[in-house]
Amino acid sequence: MGAPRVVAVVGFKAAGKTRVVEALVAELTRRGHRVGTLKHTAEDMPLDKEGTDTYRHAEAGAVSSAILSDNRTAIFLRRAMNLQRAADALGEVDFIVLEGFKTIDVAPRIIVPRGAEEVSKLRIGVEIASVDVDGKVPEAGDLPVVPVGDPGGLADIVEARAYPLLAGLNCKACGFKTCGEMGVAILAGETEAAKCVKYGGKVVLRVDGSVVALNKFTGSALANVILGFLKTLKGSESPHRVELEFEVRGDA
Ligand code: SF4
Repeated sequence: MGAPRVVAVVGFKAAGKTRVVEALVAELTRRGHRVGTLKHTAEDMPLDKEGTDTYRHAEAGAVSSAILSDNRTAIFLRRAMNLQRAADALGEVDFIVLEGFKTIDVAPRIIVPRGAEEVSKLRIGVEIASVDVDGKVPEAGDLPVVPVGDPGGLADIVEARAYPLLAGLNCKACGFKTCGEMGVAILAGETEAAKCVKYGGKVVLRVDGSVVALNKFTGSALANVILGFLKTLKGSESPHRVELEFEVRGDA
């Protein structure tokens, strides 16, 4: 399975985003796709329910708590997790539908405006559709408008146009100044997400789950050091793919 393709459903408060996500997830699932979702909230609300065992564990000072049953798992962390890492944590899925990440340009977007004046406020260049909730915004310039009651139409667009999450580094390694510009070019059919350092680099360095941009020189210097070391180890003289992972304790 390749990297999941991602789409963000964005809009202001009470626009109907969750309704759109629900309909899209149901339709993609009906078509046989495995779908993950990620919701962002700006509110500092307790994500666990007061009174549950895990809530009590956290109140007692646990920095992370998990609850496991035979067919579900929930993990509560007392810290933020970035989008890249959270997406990886969703496991093997075909599509990830984001809700509430209004400012991101690392994935294509479906806008959910509450009125015609919000269309331009929500556009940053990587939009693939606008959803008309209850006949409020039936037109959105050059964007296709899909009524909220037509999840099939929305899923058709997502299947045709969604692409994997870009790394969000604005590192220019793909030849574009920003991930947003890269996204516009992907949507225009001029390039592909595989050219992002997250997927395309020969040497990919991840620190705490996030890709760190390496230029050609630093990437090959790092690889050469590791390959030189591997040559000294019996059985690892000519590897095809190398993964190195270690923990750093930085509490000094
Ligand atoms: S290589 Fe990836 S992270 Fe860097 S600018 Fe291009 S899309 Fe963004």
